[in-house]
Amino acid sequence: MKNYNIAVVPGDGIGNEIVPEGYKVLEAVAKKHGFSMTSKTFDWGAGYYLKNGRFLPEDGLETLKNYDAVYFGSVGLPEVDDTLPAKDYTFKVRTNFDQYVNYRPVRTYPGVQRPLRTEKHIDFVIVRENTEGEFVQVGSQYLPDSENGMGIDTSIFTRKGIERIAHYAFKLARKRRNKVTHITKSNTLINSLSYWDRVITEVASQYPDVAHDQMYIDNSTASFVLKPEIFDVVLTTNLFGDILSDLGGAVMGSLGLGGSGNINPEKDFPSMFEPIHGSAPDIAGQNIANPYGQIWSAAIMLEHLGEVDAANNIMEAIDKSTLEGVLTKDLGGNASTSDVANAVIKNL
Ligand code: ATP
Repeated sequence: MKNYNIAVVPGDGIGNEIVPEGYKVLEAVAKKHGFSMTSKTFDWGAGYYLKNGRFLPEDGLETLKNYDAVYFGSVGLPEVDDTLPAKDYTFKVRTNFDQYVNYRPVRTYPGVQRPLRTEKHIDFVIVRENTEGEFVQVGSQYLPDSENGMGIDTSIFTRKGIERIAHYAFKLARKRRNKVTHITKSNTLINSLSYWDRVITEVASQYPDVAHDQMYIDNSTASFVLKPEIFDVVLTTNLFGDILSDLGGAVMGSLGLGGSGNINPEKDFPSMFEPIHGSAPDIAGQNIANPYGQIWSAAIMLEHLGEVDAANNIMEAIDKSTLEGVLTKDLGGNASTSDVANAVIKNL
């Protein structure tokens, strides 16, 4: 029997509630589809940092390399400097493991009320460049306390980085509805994002069967709200993708609905799967967090591991559950976090 060895990192806040529930769904679906899962849970994150002065042990990345994938919640606590979770955990894993694709799908869930008036079916994927761009954290603060103080962050866009994410997006579009919209702001960021446009357009010429257009970030935020049905694959930079995916969550009806994968397509390193939202300390510890995004992340993980039928089974079970009205508080319902996972398991 095929076995997958999963590193489970719940992190902080609601991660400790939604990750175990998501893992229960994984175990149930594995049983049904004839494969097994083994796992080890790591208590890394901001809570670990408060005790140990770091987000993960010195050999943490080496440890993770022994696993087929990382099933992750979220890191961050109100009492810990908010600049640390990304720098010392999330970006660290994403960059060291060359998880250059941040795969963040957006779709309508049956039975979930959405804030938009359109009744049209929404189904697109945000493909966010995940290792460079605006989030490389190269820069400095110069004399910050003086009247001449300044802060500088540099964006880095490399040919290699743009080509590989663009190829991923165009290949993905071929499996979907054959359309890539790449997001830019090259009318004002005339160096970095003009280069982004140029390299993407070069890559696009190798996929003549895929429709390609570019859209400015300002226009795309409006289009996400006014005509989200026009999108298929949305190819975007690290910062723009970060922002657009929260908007994607809102379009679906709640931040708690968005699943994602930080993917190393070559499988040289394990990929990491997490919901799009943060650790939501404001609602932690009450068993009310919405776990659908975390469960969807499990499906994305199984698809990456090659268990496509099991992944589809989870998605069907999610749809049945939302249609039956198993909805958490953020969606206007009164189901608990565990009620949702139990419903999904029942509906597998
Ligand atoms: P980050 O900086 O990592 O994005 P954040 O603290 O800015 O994190 P979130 O933790 O994503 O933001 O929370 C934003 C809001 O969305 C909060 O009010 C939170 O309660 C709500 N929220 C986030 N995730 C969920 C969820 N799974 N279920 C219900 N509400 C959620």
